[in-house]
Order: sequence, then C-alpha cells, then structure tokens
Amino acid sequence: MRMTRMFGKTLRQAPAEAETASHRLMLRAGMMQQIAAGVYAYMPLAWRSLRKIEEIIRQEMNAAGAQEVHMPALQPLELWEQTDRAAAYGPVLFRLHDRRDRDMVLAPTHEEVITSLVKANVGSYRDLPLNLYQIQAKFRDEPRPRAGLLRGREFTMKDAYSFDATQEGLDLSYQAMVQAYRNIFTRCGLPTMAVEADSGAIGGKDSHEFVLPAEAGEDTILHCKACGYAANAERASFYLPEPPPSGPDRTPLPLQEVATPGAKTIAAVAAYLGVPESKTLKAVFYAASGKLYFVVIRGDLDVNEIKLSNTIKAQGLHMATDEEVKAAGLVAGFASPIGVTGVTVIADQSIASGGNYVVGANREGYHLRNANFPRDFTADIVTDIALAKEGYACPKCRTPLSSTRGVEVGHVFKLGTFYSERLGATFVDEAGLQRPIIMGCYGIGVTRLLAAAIEQNHDDKGIIFPAPIAPYQAHLVGLNLERDDVRQAADGLYDSLTRQSFEVLYDDRPETAGVKFNDADLLGLPVRLVVSPRNLREGAVEVKGRREER
Ligand code: ATP
Ligand code: MG
Repeated sequence: MRMTRMFGKTLRQAPAEAETASHRLMLRAGMMQQIAAGVYAYMPLAWRSLRKIEEIIRQEMNAAGAQEVHMPALQPLELWEQTDRAAAYGPVLFRLHDRRDRDMVLAPTHEEVITSLVKANVGSYRDLPLNLYQIQAKFRDEPRPRAGLLRGREFTMKDAYSFDATQEGLDLSYQAMVQAYRNIFTRCGLPTMAVEADSGAIGGKDSHEFVLPAEAGEDTILHCKACGYAANAERASFYLPEPPPSGPDRTPLPLQEVATPGAKTIAAVAAYLGVPESKTLKAVFYAASGKLYFVVIRGDLDVNEIKLSNTIKAQGLHMATDEEVKAAGLVAGFASPIGVTGVTVIADQSIASGGNYVVGANREGYHLRNANFPRDFTADIVTDIALAKEGYACPKCRTPLSSTRGVEVGHVFKLGTFYSERLGATFVDEAGLQRPIIMGCYGIGVTRLLAAAIEQNHDDKGIIFPAPIAPYQAHLVGLNLERDDVRQAADGLYDSLTRQSFEVLYDDRPETAGVKFNDADLLGLPVRLVVSPRNLREGAVEVKGRREER
C-alpha cells in the first residue's frame, strides 16, 4: 500500500478525550474514527489487523470442530422476555420499535437466538455434540463506554455455543474451547492468563476469563506465583488464618456489654477495646429489590458485592441508606446480629473461624464482647462473601497472593440448561427420554483484543505490533524520492516485495525524514526498511525491527 493513496491520516496529537494508550495511539495512527460515544468506524489499518485476528480465530475454531454461522443482530424483544434477560440486561439492552410497533432489540449476545436455532434443528442425541460460532457486531448501551475499543457500545465479538447431551460432553466441549483459546491468543502473539471467573447470577459451575495483563485493564487478577492459582478478584477466594484466641484456648466466654462511646467504625471499636480488628464482626446493610439484608463479616475483611449479589440472586444490590436501616429498627454503627429479627442475615464463613468476637449491641454507644456463632446468633445463609486482596494467603498453597491488572479478552462459561429449559431446546436421549440440551458459551472480544494488544505493546513513540496481527509486515520508508535513482530503487523494492506477497506499507509521500520516521514508529509495523541516497551509495537497504533500539 502506498501511503500517498492510503485512506486515513496520522495525527501529531491525539484528541484530548483519549484516555489510554491504545485509544490515543489508534486515533493518532488514523486507524479509527469515533462516530458516537463508544461507536467507531475502522479505517483500513485497523480493519486489516482485525481481519487477521478474525482469521486466526476462524482457523482455530474450525480446527476445534466448531461450525461458523451468522445470526441477526436485530431480534424480537419477546425472545429476551422468555429468558428474563430483557430485565437482567436492563438499560444496557438497545431497544427499538419497528414500523408495526413491535419491540425489537440489538443483540448484546446470542444465547437466545442460537438456542432457538438449535431447538428447530436438533431432535436426537445423534445430532449432538454441536459447537456453533459467529464473528459479529454486538450492541451494549454500556453505562461508561471508555478507552476507545476497550469498552465500546458497538463492538465485534466471536461468540460460540456448545450443545451436549451429557455433563461429560460439556466438560469435553469446554476443554476443547479452553485449548482453542490458548492457541488463538498464542498465535496472535498475545500471552494471556486463564483465570477463574465469576459466573454471575445464572450460576453455571465453571467459568474462566482470558486476561491480557495491562495497566489500563479494568480487571484485577489475584494469582499465586507458587502454585499457579489465578482468579478474578470478583471471585477469588483465600485462606483465612484464625484470629488469636481471647484466652488460653478457644473456649467461648460469657457475653458482656461494654460502653464504646463514639466508636462507630471497626477501627475505632477495636482501638477503644484494645483488640485486633480480626476479633470484631462488622455488620453491613445492603438492599436489593426492596428487601434489606443484614450482612455479617469478620471486622478485618470487606464484603465482595459480586459474591453477595450471586448469593441473594437479586437485582440492583446496593448499600442500604440510613433511612432503609432505621426503617428496619436497627442502629447503623452499633447494629448487632444478636437478637436481630425481620431481616435476612447473611454471614461470611469467616464468622465461624474464631470466637469471642466484639459485635454491636444494637444500642447507640455500646458493643458486646464474646459473641460466638452459633451460640449467640445465627444466620440465614453462611457462605463465602469476602473480598480477596493482594497479600492474602493463596487458597491452595497459602503463599501470599499477587495482584495484576488486565483486560478481559475472552470468557468461557458452562451454562448448563438455563437457556434450553426456558426455550424448550430438548433432545431425545438413548433411552427415549426427552431432556434439555446442556450448553456452554465462549466469547472473544475481537475489537477489544486489538486495543488490549496495543495497551500491552507500545512505547512513548507509538504502537509495537505483534507480527501476527500487524496490518502490514514491513514499513518501507523512501527518503528523497524526488531523486530518480532513489525513487526507482524504492519503487522497485516495493514492487518486488509485493509480488512475493509480502505485506508492505510504502511511505512514498513527499515528507521529511523526521515526519516519516515518526509515523513509522507510531504505526509500529514489525520491520522498517529504509531506502535513501546514503543507503543507495552503499548499495544497501537499512532493515530494523520496531522493537530494536533506534
Ligand atoms: P465486561 O465484564 O468487560 O463488561 P462481559 O463479561 O460483560 O465484559 P461477556 O458477555 O463475557 O463480557 O462478553 C465476551 C467478551 O466480549 C468479553 O470477554 C470481552 O472481551 C468482550 N466485550 C464485552 N463487552 C465489551 C465491550 N463493551 N466492548 C468491547 N468488548 C467487549
Ligand atoms: Mg465476561
């Protein structure tokens, strides 16, 4: 491609609103143009990279036995009501009306449609297993579109769906996809971490995210350098040491009310009574769907709201307001799990790991010492709702956990029969029984992957494309092309390389060496070739890798 003919211009400066390196660099490189918030047009350079990513994905998906299909983005809302996902997506779902005033949506994902397709085309266990995929635009009215292609409102996703007759079949389909994903990211030159992920309210058993480590990422990954445990902080667990006993042993002591004037926080109560925070229990109030939840957790830990939200399976979980707490007859800051009635009590499993805790007395200015579970209080649910943090002990080997930021570029998920049951996608098994098909789903954010690749591979001068996804392999820079001999040499080299199927971007513009080199650095193609009067005198072409020091 001759740069004099190429559509898209490089910019000296990125627009002020560009937040992260990939956003800035892609705009400066003329790779894309914003059309609306979170909606972009891809210029030829970006499109070439995206096509390369898609081609690698296609090859690996096909090799794993998946078949490519293409489903509509425009879908009837009714289908989304059958699975209750219209409500679950809420304002993220783009809705519209057609001319007959029927409600339609622009699909954020395709479980509903693919399940309907399979329902219509599968009847027997002999038709299974199946894995179907597509590469297509998805629409999500994200509350905060950000950082260019990292979080868009229209973006490209590869989504695949597996259909199996048995749980073991699903396990195999899932494993095949995990392996395909590893191959895809390795072939793109982008090493990712596979981490245990939150599987959301639908609550499939297994779920993994593929995360590309990069500072601009929104995800926090906790991982163990000793045993390899890795999980999204949303879902990570940890080993919790017991707090020190209150006496010579763990014997429960009698409850005792003590005055704690003005001590409303865990830190203040612990300091006032001279106990470590791990010897206190904290009460936190949450509300969801008009219901109040009394959440109890060891004082030195924080609540993981995603785990809590999954536990109570309610929408719109939020910290309760003072009014909501008072309305339930409780005193924030001094609330006690002891004697509490009329609210659902959810306790973190940490409450059972020690004893003789300090808890609120449900009376302004007072706390109780020596509260013990379950002697003094009970809970409706006791489970893991604690937030894991860097430095906490690995749940598997107890080594302190490390923390890394990264971008979620892929997500694999065992769905089970959630969709097939609601939409009636069944098959007849070998014994002649009708059963729901067991499903998995597997996504890769194609456009997000390009942005994440640039987040991970750039320097202060520009992009450093991993070779497999670079728009062109080489950047041919011709200097002083007004001289016939140089022009001929550069044109000749360009023609010869192109004829041999090398992908070359040829800077044949009448610009200065400085402008051309800056643009070559900015566009970040793997190899730079320079034809100039000086090189020509030596009968040579200068060849340099973008990663090499210049
Ligand atoms: P996130 O947690 O980042 O919002 P998600 O978990 O909702 O993503 P999935 O439904 O798992 O996303 O979608 C599959 C893949 O699609 C994700 O792993 C991600 O790579 C990509 N993706 C999701 N939302 C966006 C978006 N708004 N812009 C670009 N890519 C996205
Ligand atoms: Mg996800």
